[in-house]
Amino acid sequence: MPCYRCGARQTDPVRGASPWRRGVRSDVQVLICPGCQRAHDLELDGCSSCGSTSLVCRLGEVECRSCGHVRSAGEGGPPYDFRRPSVPADLAAEVEAALSRVLGRS
Ligand SMILES: [Zn+2]
Ligand SMILES: [Zn+2]
Repeated sequence: MPCYRCGARQTDPVRGASPWRRGVRSDVQVLICPGCQRAHDLELDGCSSCGSTSLVCRLGEVECRSCGHVRSAGEGGPPYDFRRPSVPADLAAEVEAALSRVLGRS
């Protein structure tokens, strides 16, 4: 994954701690290269509990690495439910009633 800000690619992994930083921005996990970490316009999401930007996004949840606070990612509600029938229930009932009339069933 390249740096979200400048697009730089992470160089070959070096043993030890990576100078690259992980963060969450608009509920999306991002990587920040060492150069961009000094920028002041990173606009990373902050923990609503302690304000830390050391967040990890996974499986629809954003966890704070500093205090452990967990919030669900995405404020737009649950994803679209594909199990929902495309025809509204009362319309389906109406169609069924009309069919019954046509077929002579009461
Ligand atoms: Zn960068
Ligand atoms: Zn926190």
